[in-house]
Amino acid sequence: MNYPNWLLQRAHLSSSRMALSYEEQEWSFSEMNSTAQKYAGKLAAFGVERDSRVAILSKSHPEFIFIMYACLHIGCEMVMLNERLSKVELAYQLEDSKSRFVLVDDKLVEKIESPHVITFTSIRSAKPVEFEIQEEWEQGRTISIMYTSGTTGNPKGVRQTAENHFSSSISSALNIGISAEDVWLCVMPLFHISGFSILMRSLVYGMGVRLHDKFDAQQCAKELQKGTVTHMSVVGVTLERILNVLDEHKASVSPNFKTMLAGGGPIPVAYIQRAETYGISVLQTYGMTETSSQTTTLQPADAARKIGSSGKPLFLYQVKIEGAQKPGEAGEIHIRGPQVTPGYIGRHSGLLVQEDGWLHTGDIGYLDDEGFLFVVDRRSDLIVSGGENIYPAEIEKVLLNHPAVREAGVCGKPSEQWGEVPAAYVVLNEEIELDVLLAFCREQLASYKLPKSIKTVESLPRNASNKLLRRELKAWN
Ligand code: ATP
Ligand code: MG
Repeated sequence: MNYPNWLLQRAHLSSSRMALSYEEQEWSFSEMNSTAQKYAGKLAAFGVERDSRVAILSKSHPEFIFIMYACLHIGCEMVMLNERLSKVELAYQLEDSKSRFVLVDDKLVEKIESPHVITFTSIRSAKPVEFEIQEEWEQGRTISIMYTSGTTGNPKGVRQTAENHFSSSISSALNIGISAEDVWLCVMPLFHISGFSILMRSLVYGMGVRLHDKFDAQQCAKELQKGTVTHMSVVGVTLERILNVLDEHKASVSPNFKTMLAGGGPIPVAYIQRAETYGISVLQTYGMTETSSQTTTLQPADAARKIGSSGKPLFLYQVKIEGAQKPGEAGEIHIRGPQVTPGYIGRHSGLLVQEDGWLHTGDIGYLDDEGFLFVVDRRSDLIVSGGENIYPAEIEKVLLNHPAVREAGVCGKPSEQWGEVPAAYVVLNEEIELDVLLAFCREQLASYKLPKSIKTVESLPRNASNKLLRRELKAWN
């Protein structure tokens, strides 16, 4: 089955509806379509054609979206580059993806060394030529390629097809609901699935997107107060900063605002409860690049009684725990559904993504007796000590509960007696005797889980997504 080109279809079905708003400007779906066609003609002037693999590096602004939509019209595979990456990291992804063109926002041009660079300015000033618009998209066509965060190893280039994005949008709508007036505030990066999925939902639903060029808690709070937006996507830290602004201003949130989708990691229940006092419902999700956004979601009504859970699968999806015989047993999380990538590209293309039809996520978790998913940790970070399994995240959580600890990272270190033992690294808010910290851990952890060493450090190794790199921590032992 083929889909009709989503942007053409939107321009046909809801031409005058707002597609994008940025600062004081607005574009309808019909205007988005004609602008994208104009940009497609300009890209064609550089030789960009159907199936070209085109890398794009840009900050969030409307022109980035025009160029992405132009690529959709031409039928390119877009390799979404993360502007927070270093030059070397970007070079790795360009080489791995064998991108034929690199479209670069002029502000970021010094980050790319490649003979294939085309700057946004040169695209803008090019004279458009004829191109063949893709009236239909095959379900299996690769729309985007996104690299994973590289938390457990080198980032892997993930193919995301039209079907992946379509089912992700539909499943989200079945969960949240949609109406003609919806406007999704986008402050998440557009190159990341959290931001890109908002664009896909916009096309699939005919929904407006309100774009900010970066996250600013004051500006977000204003939108919520004015009721100019109905939805937004957040991560734990951005949610907290918005709540702080609302508290500070003793502000109220417009009843127009409906839902926040929160991803990237577990959201503290205290934030969800604080949000509720403003009438904001926060949906916690579990997802990954390989599943084009959310796979499971926790409803606000369950948040308090299921603290720490990432909820249940969306309607089209299935989740199971490898080897688990009964509720509560932990194992690798396996996922099945139309949102799961068909595979990686480049040097990871041989990696089987969907063994036996299920995506083996590399995450350890369990399902409780009501089928709620709890994500425990990464399988690759598991510490096996004297035959016992130890999850570093459990020890980190305990350390973080101490007010003197700002950040904590735990990894395994070799031990002659036990094979491996946990070692902890902490960034402190205030000075504290490490023995006191150890005693604090002893109150909450079984003795085999106690860190055998705690060291204070200035900062912990993190990647561009701000995720802790335990594999680098290991090198510190
Ligand atoms: P790499 O695959 O290169 O090691 P990564 O897995 O960190 O990087 P992403 O696809 O950005 O790259 O992140 C997905 C991962 O984030 C999940 O596999 C999971 O480990 C973690 N994660 C996402 N949502 C949650 C959640 N709600 N709770 C706990 N962990 C989560
Ligand atoms: Mg991963």
